[in-house]
Amino acid sequence: MPLRFYNTLSQQVEEFTPLEDNRVRMYTCGPTVYHYVHIGNLRTFTFQDVLRRWLRYRGYQLDHVMNITDVEDKIIRRSMEQGQTLADYTSQYEKAFLEDAAALRLERPERLVRATEHIPEMVNAIEKLAGKGFTYQSDGSIYYRIAQFPEYGKLSHMHWEGIRPGARVDVDEYDKADARDFVLWKARKDGEPFWDSTLGPGRPGWHIECSVMAMKYLGETLDIHAGGVDLTFPHHENEIAQSEALTGKPFARFWLHAEHLSVDGQKMAKSLGNFFTLRDLMDQGFTPEPIRYLLASVPYRKKLNFTLEGLRAAATSVERLRNYKLRLETDRYPEGASRSITARAEVARQGFDEALDDDLNTAEALAAIFEYVRETNTAMDAGEFRAGNAAETLALLAHFDSIFDVLRPPERSGGLTDAEVDARIGERNAAKKAREFARADQIRAELLESGIILEDTREGVRWKRKTS
Ligand code: AMP
Ligand code: ZN
Repeated sequence: MPLRFYNTLSQQVEEFTPLEDNRVRMYTCGPTVYHYVHIGNLRTFTFQDVLRRWLRYRGYQLDHVMNITDVEDKIIRRSMEQGQTLADYTSQYEKAFLEDAAALRLERPERLVRATEHIPEMVNAIEKLAGKGFTYQSDGSIYYRIAQFPEYGKLSHMHWEGIRPGARVDVDEYDKADARDFVLWKARKDGEPFWDSTLGPGRPGWHIECSVMAMKYLGETLDIHAGGVDLTFPHHENEIAQSEALTGKPFARFWLHAEHLSVDGQKMAKSLGNFFTLRDLMDQGFTPEPIRYLLASVPYRKKLNFTLEGLRAAATSVERLRNYKLRLETDRYPEGASRSITARAEVARQGFDEALDDDLNTAEALAAIFEYVRETNTAMDAGEFRAGNAAETLALLAHFDSIFDVLRPPERSGGLTDAEVDARIGERNAAKKAREFARADQIRAELLESGIILEDTREGVRWKRKTS
């Protein structure tokens, strides 16, 4: 079966191929840098990371643009409260976002672009929209007249008979119940940052930022546009209205939306105060890999209700897989290969690939891996597992990890690198040889303190890092 995705635009699962050759032009809405991102935001970004990795595995070359929204209502309000310039205020949160993304092993998109660095292009786009009769002015601000775009609502699948022509909204975020003409250029307000332009002094609305940056780097028709489900309306609907009014061409072929991460059944949101940041969870002793695992494990179109219990279960799953890998690397197996296990490995790999081809069904993909782990653990205990099977199984795990990326421990944990851990183990071995058992125990205890667990086996010492 070919690679397919659920497209919000058609409300169907569709086979995916890019418009041109094997190059995928993809735009994802990045963070609004007014605060640390929370793990709800990170769920959406983790979905995008899995999407990137799977597209690449399927042979596509990526041209992925992600924006950083660094001018917007909330940012302006917060920076003014803090008495900081827009740039000073946003740069700290942009940096924190990039650190969090790296900790969660989210690959960097090919291009990260800031809204404030594209103001002239936005002004230009608004002028063009004005030239085509899609805008009007009121009190120095410029609005998009949605009645002028008959297809308005085609992404969020709403009927708009109730729209009152001329009713406007100035805020960047609003509900479906409030479908109105939206603001493209906001007139300067006292004390707020502004740009001088041919449109008058002011600043862009949020929606025009993405239309302009997406088309500047990726052309008039994108292959994929993705974001969290809350962006479908109004943000993405407005992006379509702006972009298609400008070009007369479809703006994006595939629209992919990730469901929310919730807490006690409610969307995790900064405004509700029910959020955890990655930093909060790391302060509680969790490492990033179980968090990444948890966020990736639920298929992106399903709601994920976050609990600390669920996170602990994810940590156990990661640990199981790491222990299994360690066993494969350190146990000695009889020569040869069991044909039936080779066949099982192939079934697991096919199950994994078919699941991800099916609109990134990560839960099914994991199930294929865990079934194989269960079966082969039993085969190892029964002595049926052979050296040749170990190599195949490590290859299967490497394939799994090229997408899930949770098996590698963090580069540093407890301040120790792999080489430092090995050196400490060497010291402990020497102490044991010299029958200095108290010293050997002390080294073991110190390593444990740094999150390193030692296991004495017949084959020698194995070690691993604590996952939670
Ligand atoms: P923002 O920084 O608010 O612009 O959001 C960044 C991304 O996170 C967007 O794609 C949002 O749709 C997404 N997002 C916000 N809240 C959640 C949530 N609770 N669960 C999943 N994604 C979310
Ligand atoms: Zn956007």
